[in-house]
Amino acid sequence: MIPRAPKGTDDVLPPESERWRSVLRAFDGIAERFGYGLVITPLFEATELFARGVGADTEVVEKQMYTFDDKGGRSVTLRPEATASVIRAYLQSGTQGVFKGAYSGPMFRYEQPQAGRRRQFHQVGVEYIGEPSPLADVEVIEVGFRLLEAVGISDAAVLLNSIGDPADREAYRVLLAEYLSDRAEELSPEARRRIDANPLRVLDSKADAAVVAGAPVPADHLSSAAAEHIAAVREGLDGIGIPHRGEPRLVRGLDYYNRTVFEYESASYQAAQASLGGGGRYDPLAAMLGGPEVPAVGLAMGVDRIVLAMPPIDTPPALDVFVVVAEEERRSTAISLVRALRAAGLRVDLDLGGKSMKAQFRMADRRRAGAVAVVGAEWDSGQVTMRDLRSGTESLVEGQEVASWIAGH
Ligand code: AMP
Repeated sequence: MIPRAPKGTDDVLPPESERWRSVLRAFDGIAERFGYGLVITPLFEATELFARGVGADTEVVEKQMYTFDDKGGRSVTLRPEATASVIRAYLQSGTQGVFKGAYSGPMFRYEQPQAGRRRQFHQVGVEYIGEPSPLADVEVIEVGFRLLEAVGISDAAVLLNSIGDPADREAYRVLLAEYLSDRAEELSPEARRRIDANPLRVLDSKADAAVVAGAPVPADHLSSAAAEHIAAVREGLDGIGIPHRGEPRLVRGLDYYNRTVFEYESASYQAAQASLGGGGRYDPLAAMLGGPEVPAVGLAMGVDRIVLAMPPIDTPPALDVFVVVAEEERRSTAISLVRALRAAGLRVDLDLGGKSMKAQFRMADRRRAGAVAVVGAEWDSGQVTMRDLRSGTESLVEGQEVASWIAGH
């Protein structure tokens, strides 16, 4: 039997991969325009990084990590997210002050697979490190919004909350734990177990929605500095016309957040408890990893889900021209033409296997070429026959003019 991709993982092939490419390209362009430099970190890290950074009591660390001992006996983990790695890299490199980084790549979580919930999935994200201003939160939120907009998800809105600073959170945690303990018998076993370790996680538990509905919310227990911060974020989003609404029970799954947390919603992606992307401020993370205090805010967008949610794209031809060899003795001429056109920046291919004309035309169709250039007897007078595959029209074109003929079509 032919081996299959592991459960919860996907191969992405053409033409579906063209949708991926358009998301990744849109992200690259936006990240560059907003001044985020490319960051590449290892796909695996010392397990301790995630235990300390993401939080030992979080669902991700407790249940979802791909952790194993390498041959040297070190415990390593396939990264379940990239923020901890990027901050680690920032600290390890001795970088100081403001640093804006963008990443793109696979993440790994042992999930119960379903559409949009994979064991290997692809995130693109940015981290704005070293800037405490709420304007940095606004900018990061804008990056995700512009990405959704660029791929045609035009109804996206931001769900916004503040979970306060660590001191607010601690006071709130005690309040919430008391509230939940008083109603312990109404809670799911999972939630009951969380009361002491991480009661905030209960806030987004679907199974406990009835109890949670009456629970105190973080927004009512913010220090004045944290309250001013989230108010400034709201004002900033209003200023640039990004729709947002308060979601008092939004907490997000990882431990390192403080103040601003956000997710994106869209009618085009309505799976239960699932967002297209999200992020927040994580000022405590650098110190949790043993570094100095470094304020930071970041965002991660789920590419698998964006691809599911985006409208069909009008896929342009995948090749500008497919060169057809009419007679075998014209092959070296055809190859020279292909090389010249590629050097001119065009997307060009040809059959290398000596197929019949008919088979080469079929290939051109299958490869979604916009045009075919036939190299045959007409080459004796320096010409090729160009056929526009969408309109079916044919014309004789000088070999030197093929590139400009294509540009004009
Ligand atoms: P998180 O790191 O959990 O905040 O996730 C950020 C984004 O990554 C989510 O909004 C999703 O779009 C995406 N994501 C997270 N987990 C998965 C998964 N298992 N499969 C596919 N996408 C995911």
